[in-house]
Amino acid sequence: MRTYWYAGMTKDEVQHSRMTFYKTVKTGEQNLLNKQNHRLTRQRKIILEELKKVKTHPRADEIYKMVRKRLPRISLATVYRNLEVLSELKEIQKIESAGALKRFDGTPENHYHIRCIKCDRLDDAPFSLETGLEKKIRPLTSFNIIGHRLEFIGICNECTSNHK
Ligand SMILES: [Zn+2]
Ligand SMILES: [Zn+2]
Repeated sequence: MRTYWYAGMTKDEVQHSRMTFYKTVKTGEQNLLNKQNHRLTRQRKIILEELKKVKTHPRADEIYKMVRKRLPRISLATVYRNLEVLSELKEIQKIESAGALKRFDGTPENHYHIRCIKCDRLDDAPFSLETGLEKKIRPLTSFNIIGHRLEFIGICNECTSNHK
């Protein structure tokens, strides 16, 4: 068998040590990826848990303050990115309304909201979904209706009593 000049190894031994080397590099990369993935999943899980604890439909900066107690080194940008991912995954809802900052809702199923036009307080409306509305509009439009959103507006009890 032919011997190579380095370390007196045979061709097979060289091949084997090469493979082991690449395997080690690959495993190292995989471990790093797994670690990063694991961190991302953990962050996302905590954000989801914290959001589900409240009924206030918080903004991204409010969620950031909530999760910082458990993830002291997380940045607002990371929280924001995770909220976007969670809403794309339909784990949460993003509530967008003209002239108001984006809010997040830990309840992914469609439901109605009531918004105070004075302080922007946003509550869930104690009102079941009107699926009949979608049936009603279907024959009247060329759109393929996939759902609907409804937000009631008013003045909350606190804002009402502050103005007495
Ligand atoms: Zn109010
Ligand atoms: Zn809600």
